[in-house]
Amino acid sequence: MARRTTLQSPLYGYLPASAVVMKPKRAARSEVPVDVTHTAPTTLQGPMTLVGIREELGDCTRCKLCKTRTHIVFGEGNAQAQILFVGEGPGEQEDLSGRPFVGRAGQLLTKMIEAMGLKREDVYIANVVKCRPPGNRYPEPDEAEACRPFLIKQIATIQPKIVVSLGKCATQALMLIDTPISKMRGQFQDWNGVKVMPTYHPSYLLRNPAAKKDVWEDLKKVCLDLGLKIPKKEV
Ligand code: URA
Repeated sequence: MARRTTLQSPLYGYLPASAVVMKPKRAARSEVPVDVTHTAPTTLQGPMTLVGIREELGDCTRCKLCKTRTHIVFGEGNAQAQILFVGEGPGEQEDLSGRPFVGRAGQLLTKMIEAMGLKREDVYIANVVKCRPPGNRYPEPDEAEACRPFLIKQIATIQPKIVVSLGKCATQALMLIDTPISKMRGQFQDWNGVKVMPTYHPSYLLRNPAAKKDVWEDLKKVCLDLGLKIPKKEV
């Protein structure tokens, strides 16, 4: 079971997970189903449609990544998706195009989705930070913190059945834990009533192709849980 951080995790633990309260699944879309504050559970303010969340994000200057980005990469896909993939942050190609996961790691993610018998348009793809960290460095805690409410609102609005968190950054930043990804991958986690399947990031798989078989096992669990036919094809 994941270790939960309280305040001040070395990475993103600025907020105890218990301060994020999600209402039961499939609340009416007009209701605000999530709650995130730094101090006490109160209701998230602002719009709860993807268009509204994007408008609220605006020409964001909430963190220093705004100074070096070309485009904000908000996320894309099916607003009613059963599966939401969360990555770390845009790379060069994503920054240039404004679309998530379109570079080499993105091509591998697309293959992973297709191996599940789905298309990119069937799922939703988002990131922890919506602007490219310079040189593709790891997002810093203040950057993840500034962007986190938008990711949470995206999840709360889409209400996917499963969030697949890709790699350490996504898993730790979303769940506010510091458990290593190698210990969590392949095991469903509960995050405020949302099922999360942590697995390795496609960039890691590009460097360590032997780990693809582990990811395939994780994705098969997702398919099984959703009642999807498991294709024979591997990642
Ligand atoms: N890596 C990520 O984590 N996200 C992207 O959008 C692209 C590469």
